[in-house]
Amino acid sequence: MGRVLIIGCGGVASVAIQKCCQNSAVFQEIMIASRTKAKCDALRQQLEGKTDTKITTAQVDADNKDEVVALIRGYQPELVMNIALPYQDLAIMEACLECRVNYMDTANYEPENIEEPAWRAAYEKRCKEQGFSAYFDYSWQWAYRKKFEEAGITALLGSGFDPGVTQAYCAYALKHEFDVIETIDILDCNGGDHGYAFATNFNPEINLREVSAPGSYWENGHWIEVPAMSIKRVYDFDQVGTKDMYLLHHEEIESLAKNIPDVKRIRFFMTFGQSYLDHMRCLEDVGMLSTTPITYEGKEIVPIQFLKTLLPDPASLGPRTKGKTNIGCIFTGKKDGKDKTYYLYNVCDHQACYQEVGSQAISYTTGVPAMIGAMMLLTGKWNKPGVFTVEEFDPDPYMEALNRWGLPWQESHQPVLVE
Ligand code: NDP
Repeated sequence: MGRVLIIGCGGVASVAIQKCCQNSAVFQEIMIASRTKAKCDALRQQLEGKTDTKITTAQVDADNKDEVVALIRGYQPELVMNIALPYQDLAIMEACLECRVNYMDTANYEPENIEEPAWRAAYEKRCKEQGFSAYFDYSWQWAYRKKFEEAGITALLGSGFDPGVTQAYCAYALKHEFDVIETIDILDCNGGDHGYAFATNFNPEINLREVSAPGSYWENGHWIEVPAMSIKRVYDFDQVGTKDMYLLHHEEIESLAKNIPDVKRIRFFMTFGQSYLDHMRCLEDVGMLSTTPITYEGKEIVPIQFLKTLLPDPASLGPRTKGKTNIGCIFTGKKDGKDKTYYLYNVCDHQACYQEVGSQAISYTTGVPAMIGAMMLLTGKWNKPGVFTVEEFDPDPYMEALNRWGLPWQESHQPVLVE
């Protein structure tokens, strides 16, 4: 049915690629293109002979729009899956626009260089106007709405787990369970243990930027920002147990606040162990999380990038990580005039993921929805020109696909609520 260009070949992409290859009826041909072509070739070798999907590979620097345009013109895909880093989102969107090809990604845009003056000025204006100070937000990609609409192509933003599946859960709850959703608590629990004192489950630079930023939530029409890790709750997660969790700013809050009518409050919590928090605080205190270049022995280095070279590669955590993740959304609201609560979640086992695709559950829970989002676009189940997030489409075929492709969901009509 489809020919797809997949950019990136890291932890998440390698899962998405393997899932595409399990689904050859939809993904007949894929090109894997990344900065380091050797990784693409190694994955192709591993998969060839085990799939009907025809795989080719290429080298690309996706920061360079013209290189992406040349690749698209040569390969003629129906869709580009951006599973590189959020830094490349705009260059790849520009290339898709120029070539009139559908686009999707798993995380919203943030710049690599947060000191760049034009970006900095827009960022500071947004901080003042909106009231949250994360480096990422949707404004950069939403700015392409009209252009994508006019070109008759679709951009699907953030089809991972969170963002991604969490928004499909919200759309599903609104469609089938509620007349009005009043509050949404997104709970992201990783009960896995990799045995290291400190490691990140996905790209360390993106991960550490996210969790070291101030927390924020949406309430009564505006953002409330709080110091990083200053709101803590304890929750007993199905199949994982009791964990400490902390309120974080998270990108899907921004789109859900616009797309879920009358919602009063949206919060996002993630679980962290004490060892992770102690290490992070120490690294931050000594400046190792900084993205500002410094000169070391005559050479310019970026501290957080140097730190990345010291930390375990997230892709190497697969064989060591034991335990489960539990990610979902708790809703309160009204149905037929009565108060109602509802919880939708997925439990995913790190070792089961490793047996299937050689990765831990964080890459798995992101890579599977990336494949599913692509499938929605390729099969025409989701088909409208413009730039959209997951909750703006019919959730039913996506929810069905989650059950079929490895992330079955569970529900509870009497969940314990978060205080
Ligand atoms: P990795 O660092 O493991 O992989 C990133 C890949 O992108 C690597 O193959 C890397 O190449 C490639 N890449 C980086 N820069 C370029 C470039 N300029 N041109 C071409 N390729 C490039 O990251 P992850 O797999 O952990 O994360 C992938 C994405 O998924 C990120 O955007 C992350 O934010 C997102 N994510 C989303 C989640 C969700 O639930 N929605 C959860 C977790 C992650 P090289 O091998 O040379 O380094």
